[in-house]
Amino acid sequence: MTSTPVIEGLFSEEGGVAKLLGSRCATCATPYFPSSGRCHNPDCDNSDMGEAGFGPAGTLWSYSVQNYPPPPPARYDEPYVPYALGVVDLDDGLRVVGRMLVDDVANLRAGQRVELVIAPLYHEEDGSEALSWMFQPT
Ligand SMILES: [Zn+2]
Repeated sequence: MTSTPVIEGLFSEEGGVAKLLGSRCATCATPYFPSSGRCHNPDCDNSDMGEAGFGPAGTLWSYSVQNYPPPPPARYDEPYVPYALGVVDLDDGLRVVGRMLVDDVANLRAGQRVELVIAPLYHEEDGSEALSWMFQPT
């Protein structure tokens, strides 16, 4: 079985630690994900961009449950199981949306601690996995 990122270059996992790959402005510290080649902060007058990794620790700010299958081009495994999309404030300053990896979305609570993980988003007919970033409670 093969595992392939759903999009190349957005995340990494080394030694079991997941990171989102983006950039940060050295002048004003604004984080960007995906990476940006210039700073978009209107109050920043010196765009000085460098590569940055974000995660894995954060706090669930809010979430919403996707109760029905999303339309194409969204992909998911059959049979469809409702999942939650969370908005997470990573400890290193990035606010980012990601799918929540939980057994029961009824157990999610805004304010709970979560961690970034890399997990299968869906499977191809040949059984190979398409990986993406997700968040799970710690
Ligand atoms: Zn800046």
